[in-house]
Amino acid sequence: MAETAKLVCLDCGSTNRVPVAKLGSGPKCGTCGAKLTDGKVRALDPATLQKAAKTDEAPLLVDFWAPWCGPCRMMAPQFQQAAQALAPHARLAKIDTQDHPAVSQKHNIRGIPALILFQNGREVARLAGARPAAEIEAFVRQNARMPA
Ligand code: ZN
Repeated sequence: MAETAKLVCLDCGSTNRVPVAKLGSGPKCGTCGAKLTDGKVRALDPATLQKAAKTDEAPLLVDFWAPWCGPCRMMAPQFQQAAQALAPHARLAKIDTQDHPAVSQKHNIRGIPALILFQNGREVARLAGARPAAEIEAFVRQNARMPA
């Protein structure tokens, strides 16, 4: 793995270059000061999603969800738990496909919840349906390149 990783700030969309060894010591965005790897699930807008999906060198798992989707709402606490477990080496975020229907089309989402894992500028894997935290975590660890 490279010594630094490019991470898009999920709050402001700026690209940051962070030493991999410092991912665990609370790196902050150079532009807005938001924490980059705090294990909190960020809600994305389409522009930030697109930029992070194309840029991030660390694994980024995105939950495509909607407020009307019961299984999505049920999975939310599990997804948050997985985000904590995978921090600081992978980041988890979500996007509301009701507010942003174009992203479903762009990513060819057929049903929600759908999880797409991005790393090094491309889609690595996807997982459909609501999953418990342990399965979400295992999915990322199996498909992403990250320190053990
Ligand atoms: Zn920022």
